[in-house]
Amino acid sequence: MFKKILIANRGEIALRIQRACREMGIKAVMVYSEADRDAKYVKLADEAVCIGPAASALSYLNMPALISAAEVTDAEAIHPGYGFLSENADFAERVEKSGFQFIGPTPENIRMMGDKVSAKQAMIKAGVPCVPGSEGELSDDPVVIKRTAKAVGYPVIIKAAGGGGGRGMRVVHTEAALINAVQMTKAEALAAFSNGAVYMEKYLQNPRHIEIQILADKFKNVVYLGERDCSMQRRHQKVLEEAPAPGIPRKLIERIGERCAAACKKIGYRGAGTFEFLYENGEFYFIEMNTRVQVEHPVTELITGVDIVRTQIMVAAGEKLPFAQRQISIHGHAIECRINAEDAYKFTPSPGRITMWHPPGGPGVRVDSHVYTNYYVPPNYDSMVGKIIVHGDTREQAMARMRTALLETVIEGINTNIPLHRELMVDAKFMAGGTNIHYLEEWLSQHKR
Ligand code: ADP
Repeated sequence: MFKKILIANRGEIALRIQRACREMGIKAVMVYSEADRDAKYVKLADEAVCIGPAASALSYLNMPALISAAEVTDAEAIHPGYGFLSENADFAERVEKSGFQFIGPTPENIRMMGDKVSAKQAMIKAGVPCVPGSEGELSDDPVVIKRTAKAVGYPVIIKAAGGGGGRGMRVVHTEAALINAVQMTKAEALAAFSNGAVYMEKYLQNPRHIEIQILADKFKNVVYLGERDCSMQRRHQKVLEEAPAPGIPRKLIERIGERCAAACKKIGYRGAGTFEFLYENGEFYFIEMNTRVQVEHPVTELITGVDIVRTQIMVAAGEKLPFAQRQISIHGHAIECRINAEDAYKFTPSPGRITMWHPPGGPGVRVDSHVYTNYYVPPNYDSMVGKIIVHGDTREQAMARMRTALLETVIEGINTNIPLHRELMVDAKFMAGGTNIHYLEEWLSQHKR
């Protein structure tokens, strides 16, 4: 096992990984930007290295600074967390070339999945069902584009091959709007992701976002840890997540989970990964694979008892998965609310000093957050300041626990989206279960303030 790991991230996930390292007796090196100097997980770290100024491009995305930090501290491995460089194949390659273990898949697998066109092609080959659409990258020829859209059937969605974070997508309802939409998406994709390639998919009308968590070791042992329902989204970004997905027969989940595991075996995948699907009328359609730990991983940890971050570290160190598929079972229900420093209904960011932080507690309540009273939320990064995750024997109990937890939570000095979560937890349709990816946007437009 490693003696020392460098954590190339910040915020709650940096703390989550630090906790896993402590439990495993591994020393954790924290890196921080000047804006994160006072963070408690930095102060409490075994070792901490400043890697640059607040701007991410100069710190958390600064590959040479991260690699030198690992060199000067004699770390053996680098955990990238999520966001920042976690899905950057060039970074993974540089980490390994510099003699460190990257805690994640091989650079080849990251590259394959990072390009959504090649990811879909790999999945089609591996027998994973995909959303119908263009075969590979969309041609530049207007005649071919129109013919493709006709064959796929309107509405269609134009998506950037290099897209992420809910950006680089455009829905098209009519042929009249098609060519212009393709050109605009291409231009935006080139500017945002330095890759102008786009592809086309059928735009599904009422799908749910269902994803499968997998874990794999270097010996081609792969398990899937059930599913998560992440359909509650705003602007294609997840707001709250739950596991298991209400109302989907276990048989269907097992069938798709086995397909995902088989695909991982086929491509020699290692580490943690998530297969994202749209689910409509009893069918799963693959949209993309995330080659890293995800924000919403705790809901899976709570229903399976598997520590995903610990397992990532174990398999990166060359150990075998400590469990087989038949040892994985699902217990109860878990829900996660992402707590963002933002106006609950207008969504404008609300950075600043937290003058009072009182997190909830009690049976089945987990809080993953790096903040505390008097913590200053810097304006430079993602607005998420933590996650409240609850577990119950049933979905009803989990929802009741989340309501209690949200009621107990006191955050003063900044605005947060807790009022929105409180309303959603008593919303009749959400409580019934199975709402689709458009539900939250529709709800927000009807509850304008
Ligand atoms: P990103 O990498 O930016 O997160 P994804 O491909 O994972 O992009 O899609 C994000 C979200 O966009 C999905 O969860 C879904 O809400 C919506 N979406 C993507 N593709 C489609 C589609 N073909 N039909 C309907 N909605 C889609």
